[in-house]
Amino acid sequence: MSLTRLDGASVHRLCSGQVVLDLTNAVKELVENALDANASYIEVRFKNFGLDSIEVIDNGAGIPADDYESIALKHFTSKLRQFEDLTTVDTFGFRGEALSSLCALADVSITTSQKHEEPKATKLEFEKNGHLKCRSITSGKRGTSVTINRLFESLPVRRREFERHHKREFTKAVSLLQAYAVAAVGVKFLVTNTPPSGKKASQIRTNGGKHLRDNITNVFGAKVMSSLMPVEFATEDIDLESRLKFGDQSNSPIALNVSGFISKPDVGEGRSSSDRQLLFINNRPCGLSKLSRSINDIYGVFNSNQNPVFVLNLRLPFDSYDVNVTPDKRTIFLHGEDTIVETVKLNLLQIFEACSRHVARQPQI
Ligand code: ADP
Ligand code: MG
Repeated sequence: MSLTRLDGASVHRLCSGQVVLDLTNAVKELVENALDANASYIEVRFKNFGLDSIEVIDNGAGIPADDYESIALKHFTSKLRQFEDLTTVDTFGFRGEALSSLCALADVSITTSQKHEEPKATKLEFEKNGHLKCRSITSGKRGTSVTINRLFESLPVRRREFERHHKREFTKAVSLLQAYAVAAVGVKFLVTNTPPSGKKASQIRTNGGKHLRDNITNVFGAKVMSSLMPVEFATEDIDLESRLKFGDQSNSPIALNVSGFISKPDVGEGRSSSDRQLLFINNRPCGLSKLSRSINDIYGVFNSNQNPVFVLNLRLPFDSYDVNVTPDKRTIFLHGEDTIVETVKLNLLQIFEACSRHVARQPQI
């Protein structure tokens, strides 16, 4: 077969399928956009477990009218100007790929309003290539609502798989949304699903409390929260705030600050699943399997009856990790990962030892 260059539309569809791998990914991108727009209220509405539609509504900044034409074009972003900015960028998004990919894979419409436009809003509909198809004036409050209809319709194999396993895919998406709902302190989250024949059911609801413990209570329940103890430690006493802001210029060891909660070593709920083990880097939920494993190992030394529940946020300078490793940004390249794992292990060891000594000193009744 002779060599030919793929046409632009095919390339776009192929690449989009790699950015938005599944339902979880699609909804994650939309929620991240809402968080980047500084929303304090985020609602996710699944219809038929996401098979019919996914709608993400926020009360964030809204989209400026000047951006309507380019918002869903590939690599158009308001968050990054040049590659070098990546070490200081503190938004979830920066590649300008999500909306453009979603347009290639589904029907996308957006309704948005900025503060000065209220109570008017603009509804935008897009072509598969991300070009604006039509816009119309409607009513709406400040914020943005993005609707994705019939996800993966343009990738028949993926759509069939999604249809076959839609409940499993939905469970996975809700589980990731739990991580975002817990991490986003001060943001009210509501996640619902409306099955084809049945009533709308709420999956996640948080109250937008000011503390991490409020979100953990809302998402995992008061009983789980009461079985946890706080964790707080830092590798060194340096001005982390300024390193976060300006990037670390020195060769000093990694500045790490860890805070959150972990199961007390003397409780036994008997759970063995890992769905209540959340790790964040600068509040970004991420999969850090090596660190997770070692936290489980250390906990196991003190309590072999259960795996711990934990919610831990690692604060690190922005230039000490790279989230641009996979299109879904879940895999993180962590500079000095072994040192970080070791530091967390040692600190937890001390915390659990102190805790066990304290329990041993309690009078037996
Ligand atoms: P990225 O997040 O990497 O910039 P996206 O394709 O996810 O790329 O979004 C493109 C742009 O659309 C964003 O940079 C932002 O300006 C705008 N945008 C998307 N969703 C929202 C939202 N919910 N509220 C405000 N602006 C949004
Ligand atoms: Mg984005």
